[in-house]
Amino acid sequence: MRATFARIHLENLRHNINYIRTKIKPSAKMCITVKADAYGHGAVECARVAVECGVDFLAVATVLEGIELRKAGIDVPIFLFSLCQKEEIKDVVLNRLTPFIFDDEYFELFAEECKKLEITNFPVHLAVDTGMGRLGCLPEQAADKAQKILDTGVLKLEGMCTHFAVADSLKKSDIKYTKFQFENFLRAIDFVKAKGINPGIRHCANSAITLAFPDMHLDMCRSGITVYGYYPGDFTKKYFEKSGEKVFLKPVMELVSKILSIRDFEEGRAVSYGRLWYSKQKTKIAVLPIGYADGLFRRFNEIKGGLKVCIKSKPYSIRGRICMDQCMVDIADGNGINRFDEAVIFGAKENGAYFSAQELADLTGTISYEITCGISKRVPRIFVN
Ligand SMILES: *Cc1c(COP(=O)(O)O)cnc(C)c1O
Repeated sequence: MRATFARIHLENLRHNINYIRTKIKPSAKMCITVKADAYGHGAVECARVAVECGVDFLAVATVLEGIELRKAGIDVPIFLFSLCQKEEIKDVVLNRLTPFIFDDEYFELFAEECKKLEITNFPVHLAVDTGMGRLGCLPEQAADKAQKILDTGVLKLEGMCTHFAVADSLKKSDIKYTKFQFENFLRAIDFVKAKGINPGIRHCANSAITLAFPDMHLDMCRSGITVYGYYPGDFTKKYFEKSGEKVFLKPVMELVSKILSIRDFEEGRAVSYGRLWYSKQKTKIAVLPIGYADGLFRRFNEIKGGLKVCIKSKPYSIRGRICMDQCMVDIADGNGINRFDEAVIFGAKENGAYFSAQELADLTGTISYEITCGISKRVPRIFVN
C-alpha cells in the first residue's frame, strides 16, 4: 500500500447522514449524491453506507458512475443528474438510472430505447430551469413537456426538479433570488397540475436549502456536501452560528502521508523547485510522498503563513514548492519524529488535523467540494468503520 492515502471515516458519514435525516421534514424522501466518486470519498462504499442508513435515492452525474454502483450490487433507485450522450441511453435504461430530462429529443430517444427493450413505465424526472441557467425547461413549458412525456406511452413522470444558483448565500439579494426560483418552481408544478397531470415527487433542496430553508423541502431533499462533513458555504455556517442552532457535521476524509525521508540541513540550503525557501538555521527536512498529482495543489503554497501538516498532534510547515509527487516539511529538531510517522494534511480537527478541507478551501479561494474531489485516483482510499 502507498504511503499516501485518504482515510475515509465511514462512522462520520453515517453520523452525518443520520443527522441530516433529522433536519429533513419526516414526510420528505432523502437522496444522497455520490457523484464524482462520492465527492472523492469512494462511491461504492459511501453508497453502501447510505443504503444501510435507509436513504431512498442515490445520485450520480455520469452513466459510468451509475454502472459502477449497479455492478457493486447497489439496488436503490439512482438519479442521473447530468445529460448523457445518445449512445449511452441504452445503458441508462438497462441499468435503471433515472434521468433528469426536459426536451423533446431526449423524450423521444428514451422512449425509442424503452420500446426496443420492451420496457414500460420507465421513470424520468422533468427538470425545470427556474434561474440556474444550466438545464431544464422554462416554467411556462412544464405542462407541455409533462404531457409529451406521458404521450410517449412508455415513460412515466416520476417527479419534477429544479436546482438553485445561490442557495448557499445568505446575502439579502441572493435569498430573494432563491425565493424567486422557488416560486418559479411552484408555478411550473401548478401548470402541470392544471393540466390534470400528477407532478410526482417534487424536489429542489440541495444541502444548503435542506439546512436553511425547511419550507422548501417539498417531497425530497438531495444532500451532498453536508453528508461528507462540510457546510455548503460560509454563509450557511454563519447562519447557524447566529441562530444558535448547532450543526454537528464531521469531516469524513482525512488525507495522510507518511514521512519517507528525514535529512539534516545546515543553514542556508535551498529546498525544492524555484529555490524559494532556504533554511535559516540548522534543521531537519522530512519528505512526504504527496504532491499536486495527488491533489495537494501548488496553490496551497500561497496560503498565508504556509501550509501546515500535523505530525504527532503538532503542526509543521511545508517548505518550498509542492512538487508533482512530493513535498518537504520542516520538522525543526525532529525530536520524537521518525521515518514512517504519519503526517495529516487535512481532516477532522478532533482527529488532530491542523487544517480542515474547509479551511484549505477558504484560504485558497475555492470550496471544500473542489478540495476533496481533487484528491486523485492514485491516492488509495482506506475505509474505517
Ligand atoms: C450536486 C447536486 C446536488 C447536491 O449539492 P450539495 O450542495 O452537495 O448538497 C443536488 N442537486 C443537484 C442537481 C446537484 O447537481
